[in-house]
Amino acid sequence: MIGENIEIVRNNIRKACERVGRDSSDVTLIAVSKTMPYEMIEEAYMFGQRHFGENKPQELRDKNCMSDKKDIQWHMIGNLQKNKIKYVVGTACMIHSIDTYDLAREVSDYALLHGEVCDVLLEVNIANEATKNGFTEKELMTQLVGLSNLKGIRIKGLMCVAPITDNAESNRGYFRHMKEMLVDINSQNIDNVFMDHLSMGMTDDYEVAVEEGATLVRVGTGIFGRRNYNI
Ligand SMILES: *Cc1c(COP(=O)(O)O)cnc(C)c1O
Repeated sequence: MIGENIEIVRNNIRKACERVGRDSSDVTLIAVSKTMPYEMIEEAYMFGQRHFGENKPQELRDKNCMSDKKDIQWHMIGNLQKNKIKYVVGTACMIHSIDTYDLAREVSDYALLHGEVCDVLLEVNIANEATKNGFTEKELMTQLVGLSNLKGIRIKGLMCVAPITDNAESNRGYFRHMKEMLVDINSQNIDNVFMDHLSMGMTDDYEVAVEEGATLVRVGTGIFGRRNYNI
């Protein structure tokens, strides 16, 4: 089932790329394995999946410890508290969820202390939802220079979690705006800031996100099935 699902999602990504004239090799599928047992990750691995997303620092660390697959790339996609930075820096290939300057500075400091530079994305609260984390557009624009001066992080792009909806089209405008922000930021020629990545799109809206320029899509349910949070 997991193999079939991965094939379906990859195909949908290819088709979305074709519709807008993008090269599908520019889009990376991240299989969001949060709450799923490690065996399911191994199954996905057998079908060629290498990028996995986790939203809890300890879970990411534990699954990495369990794994003998050295070419798995772990993405930290969930809310990150400062005291848990230690679980992900050096283990995750990228932190998608940098949502305040303070967190960025703490990650940078920790990374520098351990001789690392950590790849990160800046999370944008694209629909200004009270329940969501992330920089507002205004905060992002005013804090960008400060963020770019942090030596222990490399800012690789932007990430958003779009509103929950059963109509993917209703998120198209948000995804389009994310791309516009990326282009705008790159045109400002800020030292050390050139961003390639847009992490956006989940099970319900990843095809629209790809049409609008996503380079990293985060699909959980569409690959592993529904999550059970009561176990
Ligand atoms: C859980 C999660 C996903 C995957 O959601 P699905 O709807 O299951 O595809 C993507 N991004 C983030 C940040 C998540 O927490």
